Amino acid sequence: MTKIHNLGFPRIGANRELKFAVEKYWQNESSLEELLLVSNQISHENIELQANLDFVPVGDFSLYDHVLDHSFLLGNIASRFIRDNEASIDSYFRAARGRAPADGACCNTAAGEMTKWFDTNYHFIVPEVSADTRFTLNADALIKNIQQVRSQGYEVKPVLLGPLTYLYLSKAKDDIDPLSLLEPLITVYSELLEKLVRIGVDWVQMDEPVLVLELSEKWKLAYRYAYKCFSHSSPKLLLTTYFGDLGDNLELATQLPVAGLHIDAVRGRDSVEDVLNALSNDKVLSLGVIDGRNIWKSDLNKILDWVEPIALKRQNQLWLAPSCSLLHVPVDLDVEQHIEPDIKQWLAFAKQKLQELCILGKALKKGRQSVAVELADNAEAIALRKGSSRVHNPVVQHRMQNVSSADYERQSTYDVRREKQDIRFNLPRFPTTTIGSFPQTKEIRRARRDFKRGELSEAEYKSFIESQIDDCIQKQEELDLDVFVHGEAERNDMVEYFGEQLDGFVFSQFGWVQSYGSRCVKPPIIFGDVSRPKVMTVEWTRYAQSLTDKPMKGMLTGPVTILNWSFVRDDQPRADTCKQIALAIRDEVQDLQAAGIRMIQIDEAALREGLPLKKSDWHEYLQWAVDAFRLCANGVEDDTQIHTHMCYSEFNDIIESIARLDADVITIETSRSDMELLDAFDSFSYPNDIGPGVYDIHSPNIPSVEEMLSLLQKAAEKLPVKQLWINPDCGLKTRRWEEVIPALQNMVTAAKQLRTLFK
Ligand code: GLN
Ligand code: ZN
Repeated sequence: MTKIHNLGFPRIGANRELKFAVEKYWQNESSLEELLLVSNQISHENIELQANLDFVPVGDFSLYDHVLDHSFLLGNIASRFIRDNEASIDSYFRAARGRAPADGACCNTAAGEMTKWFDTNYHFIVPEVSADTRFTLNADALIKNIQQVRSQGYEVKPVLLGPLTYLYLSKAKDDIDPLSLLEPLITVYSELLEKLVRIGVDWVQMDEPVLVLELSEKWKLAYRYAYKCFSHSSPKLLLTTYFGDLGDNLELATQLPVAGLHIDAVRGRDSVEDVLNALSNDKVLSLGVIDGRNIWKSDLNKILDWVEPIALKRQNQLWLAPSCSLLHVPVDLDVEQHIEPDIKQWLAFAKQKLQELCILGKALKKGRQSVAVELADNAEAIALRKGSSRVHNPVVQHRMQNVSSADYERQSTYDVRREKQDIRFNLPRFPTTTIGSFPQTKEIRRARRDFKRGELSEAEYKSFIESQIDDCIQKQEELDLDVFVHGEAERNDMVEYFGEQLDGFVFSQFGWVQSYGSRCVKPPIIFGDVSRPKVMTVEWTRYAQSLTDKPMKGMLTGPVTILNWSFVRDDQPRADTCKQIALAIRDEVQDLQAAGIRMIQIDEAALREGLPLKKSDWHEYLQWAVDAFRLCANGVEDDTQIHTHMCYSEFNDIIESIARLDADVITIETSRSDMELLDAFDSFSYPNDIGPGVYDIHSPNIPSVEEMLSLLQKAAEKLPVKQLWINPDCGLKTRRWEEVIPALQNMVTAAKQLRTLFK
């Protein structure tokens, strides 16, 4: 019989209960018992939601991050997180965020580094290793959890992060190769697996997503070695891969001595045939047929057409699951009240995806007629989406077809533009500017909220935002900055603000997805052809420009960032959706120009984030992503200056693509890395203007004139001074005015000193 199972469930709770409970605990407003009460409640509910599966995952729940949980499970905890005589939960939160509730403000430590989990927006705490690393097994909590769930009558499948993925994601604090720790790590994993055998666990899900990356021979060898060691005394292992196909690790993954293999059959759809051929018939093949990375209802009949013959061939050895953990989608669609019914019926969040899985399981076990009604409903929803006029807009499609190659090009080369722009703007050397947002005070948030709720009239809201603009222009005048911004007080979020005004987008009320720890994001859903019904930013920007003689930058979010921070359509290539967004933003760019705004900044904070996991796919992505930027930006006059901004973006390997954006000015985050990012310019001479950030806006610290000068000195070693702008790392919305004013005063002073140095 085909079995159905799940790889992991969101842990934040349907109403973000976990977020509120941990934050309360961190504030010392609740006890550990109260926190555990909430977290136990959520895991219990999650398990009940999965009760109809053949296996329930255990160990996927986490108070903060599952990778950090593994560092604790493996006894790999840096000593700076541990204090004597305290509960391990305190060292856990110290590792997560640099402080535990027990700590006063005095004794914070540097938290573990955080980075993105593959190509998702989930961030994990990077395991630290060094030559001194010793692993010791700490499995009591996991074992207790397993036994508890089993005692309730469930068939459990513990979820472990595999040893190779753990090491691959680790960062060495000295110059050791993390792989040199494989032997001791295998010992601890073996000990754990033996324990699980002893308590009668049948299957273990061993997550090894690293197998979808391009691996060097040494890692492949390590895989063979480790899994051979586990083949002696262990429960059956389901080697679990996701986020892509196995690529040239296909042979490796299918040959490892494990009892089963899970593959992502959504992103890796084209390679399923090859896996079927390579995997011996006595092994379980688990197909991840339901998209765990997106929110669309699956086409169940189509999946059945495809997997029924496979099930017949593989008899007992086929399992079905979502493609990856459901951590990356919101919890429950049922609670949404404002998504229009015709769109809502096209969607499935985590809970609904499990229901889909159950329908598939039943169809395979008892025949399609046993779920005839469900399948018919599903087919109807799929057909409605396919044919919907809400999705397909002929005007957008016509426009897409008529984009010409000239639309991607500026009228003149940079040299020519630069001369014209110099005449128009007449800026001093080392022009100073900021990245867009100014502090978002309580009053600003309240006004936006009240306006949204209808408690503030349109006229009242308008005059409130204008007063904020007045105020921030006044402050920029006093600071004597060279290029101004309007401050973005009207924006809650740089993507949501535009999504709400564009056609083709829909917003959920509760569609939260964990980003890191207690932080959740609510990505917009792009369901249809994108277009811009009316101007979005022109009025505020024009108003701001009317208050000053200094140039005002119009502020837009770029197409690639809007795309990468949304749930996107699965019925057309990402590149096409991106191009549609680009055309919509292009309209806004041109309307800004027509309104006399001749500096326009198009933020592409997430350009790098969209890079595919396999390097061999980078070129194609960068090609269409950069083209989308060019399409949105390049329809302007020579003397309109296009700016772009990027956050932390290790430039080195994509510097040529960044140059191909051909923005007249790029501002980038660099101060946090002490200008290290500028190493890219050692071997590449960047042609246009560039503003390396000199003020780390993530910290409340106020950088001194000297600190900024020394950063700028470093920048001047790498770049011709005539190309340099002076600005903070990023927007200032999370900072307070008390920090921002002195920091910007110092920044302007630094610029003025430089001007006397480099006449
Ligand atoms: N213009 C945006 C701001 O200043 C940029 C934000 C970002 O890059 N993340 O807030
Ligand atoms: Zn930024």
